[in-house]
Parts: sequence; structure tokens; C-alpha cells
Amino acid sequence: MTDCLFCKIRDGEIPADIVFESDDVLAFNDVNPQAPIHIIIIPKKHIPTINDVEDGDESVMGKLFSAAKIIAGQKAVSDDGYRLVVNCNEKAGQTVFHIHMHLLAGRAMIWPPG
Ligand code: AMP
Ligand code: ZN
Repeated sequence: MTDCLFCKIRDGEIPADIVFESDDVLAFNDVNPQAPIHIIIIPKKHIPTINDVEDGDESVMGKLFSAAKIIAGQKAVSDDGYRLVVNCNEKAGQTVFHIHMHLLAGRAMIWPPG
């Protein structure tokens, strides 16, 4: 996928502040943070939206959660709490069409989200 922002970050073509990397997952600080800690966690595989998850993607999708757990521990927010968000398509606010999980922490979260 040549015209995808997060594929370009994965490939090192666009700089990012990487906080976690494994064979299948990459995580970096959000460029426009909505909380004191705001990290984007992506599968290295280009999958546009949750609607495009296919049989065989279960492992990497699970690894997004595993990465979130590890990052929360590294950031020392595991006990205080953090929010994980995945937006799907326009009405949910998805703007980058490469699946990503937001990890937000460092402030109290309100519910329901806007
Ligand atoms: P979403 O609206 O769920 O698609 O989230 C996309 C997120 O990507 C937003 O929170 C943006 O601030 C973030 N973002 C956009 N460009 C970059 C970038 N170059 N580096 C890091 N985060 C980015
Ligand atoms: Zn991509």
C-alpha cells in the first residue's frame, strides 16, 4: 500500500516517535495527542478498517491488545487506567485508513465518548 500514512511510518518513510515494535506490531506517539499519553498501535500488515479483517488476522489483532498491555506497563498507567479506541469509518471519526488502536491515558476519561 503506497499511499498510506501508517504504512509509510512502518517503512520509515515518514518519521514517528516509535514506542514499541515487534514482528507484527508498531506503536508510536500520536502527532496530535488528545491526552497526556496518546499512542497509536498498528498492525504492520495494511488492513484499512475493522470491516476488512479477514480469517487469519486474528493473531495480529490480538497482538494489538498485547502491545497495549506492554505499553501501558512501560508508561506506568496499568493500574490508574487507560482507554483503547478503534474508530471504523467516517462517522466514528476514522481519518487514517490503516487499522489502529488509540491508547489514551494520563487523565480521567468521560463516558460515553463523543
Ligand atoms: P483516527 O481519527 O482514528 O483515524 O486516528 C488517526 C490518528 O492518527 C489521529 O489521532 C492523528 O492525530 C494521528 N496521526 C495523523 N498523522 C500522524 C503522524 N504523522 N504521526 C502520528 N500520528 C498521526
Ligand atoms: Zn497502511
